[in-house]
Amino acid sequence: MTIEQKNSLLIIGAGISGLAAAKTLREHISPNELSIDIVEKSRGFGGRMSCRKTKIGSSLLFSDHGAQFFTARTKEFQALLTPLIKSELIQEWRPKLVTLSASKKVYKREWFEKHYICCNGMNSLAKHLVSELKTNDVVIRTNARVKNITRLNASLEKRPWYIQIGEEEQKHGYDWIISSIPAQQNLQLFHQTQLNPNLNLQSFSHWPCFSLMLALKPHFSLPFDAAVVKESPISWISNNSSRQENNSIDGLVIHSTNTWAEKNIEKNDEEIADILFENLTKILMTIDNSYENLAKNIDHRDVHRWAHAKTKHKAGSDFLINENQSLGFCGDWCIGNRVEDAFVSGNKLGAHLAKILG
Ligand SMILES: Cc1cc2nc3c(=O)[nH]c(=O)nc-3n(C[C@H](O)[C@H](O)[C@H](O)COP(=O)(O)OP(=O)(O)OC[C@H]3O[C@@H](n4cnc5c(N)ncnc54)[C@H](O)[C@@H]3O)c2cc1C
Repeated sequence: MTIEQKNSLLIIGAGISGLAAAKTLREHISPNELSIDIVEKSRGFGGRMSCRKTKIGSSLLFSDHGAQFFTARTKEFQALLTPLIKSELIQEWRPKLVTLSASKKVYKREWFEKHYICCNGMNSLAKHLVSELKTNDVVIRTNARVKNITRLNASLEKRPWYIQIGEEEQKHGYDWIISSIPAQQNLQLFHQTQLNPNLNLQSFSHWPCFSLMLALKPHFSLPFDAAVVKESPISWISNNSSRQENNSIDGLVIHSTNTWAEKNIEKNDEEIADILFENLTKILMTIDNSYENLAKNIDHRDVHRWAHAKTKHKAGSDFLINENQSLGFCGDWCIGNRVEDAFVSGNKLGAHLAKILG
């Protein structure tokens, strides 16, 4: 097959859904028949399965500030994880888990299914998929934000999809595009193309969330590894020491509730950090009054704002596709709001496209 004859496909986004779509497609179709390019706007891979590395003095703090853990209920996700659990890239997480609230005593919580984490940061699952894809001739570009998309007349052009990355216009087009970015971001990107109105992209949306990352002074300790928080702007507290093998200093990740984030989205990072910190102190004081001095035990603080954290309105189908326009969409928001939903969505779209293009 000549270069002109083979199909070309672009995947926008190297989060878990985009990488799953590429993996499944490549398992079915060889590089001689289909070229696959992935473009990712960030420096790294994994999207919302992210791990921030912060240098504090001569030490490094690793904070999983997006997805905290994942479950594996489907056969396809279990099949991906099984060898990675054996090779210790992934492990079951069994934290000492509690519920904290202003009005009730702290109580221990149980999980009734296995919860997994990546031992060296939540982005290591994506890094693993990327290294496999690269050895299978998938081209992956980071720091490459797709700014604009144009579709030329498909009856005149074999490869009608053209993208613009930053100020740079692509010299060649693609036959197919898969977009794996959060639902609302698709609306901005595809506003100029005549999407099939039945895809209804404007109906799907995400809640925001704030993450507060704290570096702890040595010897500070908490009587739990993770906490679900009620009656507070905070929804979750996670102690890094229970999940990260590579940390040289301990830290906490605090997540706001989605509704509080939505109401307070206009506040700046300093204000967000102050309010979440004040509420963290308050909630820890329900365990012990000595946490009143929490501020003295913090070396560093940082806020991350997730504009599209958790699905508000899902699509309710595994993926969306417009075969006439050679355009597919995948992501957590198609099925639900979890890592596994994102993987399944990408995997199912990849398998569907493999039948069309294979
Ligand atoms: C704070 C928080 C906590 C969470 N906790 C959990 C949890 O405990 N358990 C769980 O299962 N799930 C959790 N989730 C949800 C989980 O992280 C997501 O469901 C999953 O990671 C989504 O994967 P995705 O591939 O669909 O999207 P994403 O991970 O968002 O991937 C999309 C990718 O597209 C890139 N991109 C966007 N626009 C462009 C563009 N224009 N050009 C190029 N690239 C672009 C982005 O940079 C990103 O890498 C959490 C999420 C957040 C934010």
